[in-house]
Amino acid sequence: MASVFTKIINGEIPCYKIAEDDNFIAFFDINPNAKGHTLCVPKLEVNKILDLEEALYLKLMQFSRKVGIALEKTIPCKRVGMAVIGLEVPHVHVHLIPLNDMKEMTFSHKVSMTDAEFKSLAEAVQKNL
Ligand code: AMP
Repeated sequence: MASVFTKIINGEIPCYKIAEDDNFIAFFDINPNAKGHTLCVPKLEVNKILDLEEALYLKLMQFSRKVGIALEKTIPCKRVGMAVIGLEVPHVHVHLIPLNDMKEMTFSHKVSMTDAEFKSLAEAVQKNL
């Protein structure tokens, strides 16, 4: 069965999209640890990051770096944290989290955002890509 992220890539499920190219998509995490929490996802559905072919892994890091720099430019934060987990969604993704506090790297720490907030923040990040 297709992963939830493959469904997003195929347009079957909506997302707040930040960036997309031939190989990757970036969109906001729907249940963010902090405002601007973004997921960078390869379009190829692979379960674990270390199972990615090396060239695609390196391209994912390049894509994530570009998105992370745009997040840093847009959202006041001390730095953008990066994490790879995948215990909930078995489709490779890099979490990019604008951080002001260590607790924002704790996945039990969540913030709520309205639809309007997600949309306006997505537009602001896109302008800094
Ligand atoms: P993990 O697999 O543990 O790295 O976590 C998966 C992440 O995907 C969680 O932070 C979820 O909030 C996020 N997530 C799950 N479904 C969606 C969705 N439909 N759109 C955006 N983010 C999602």
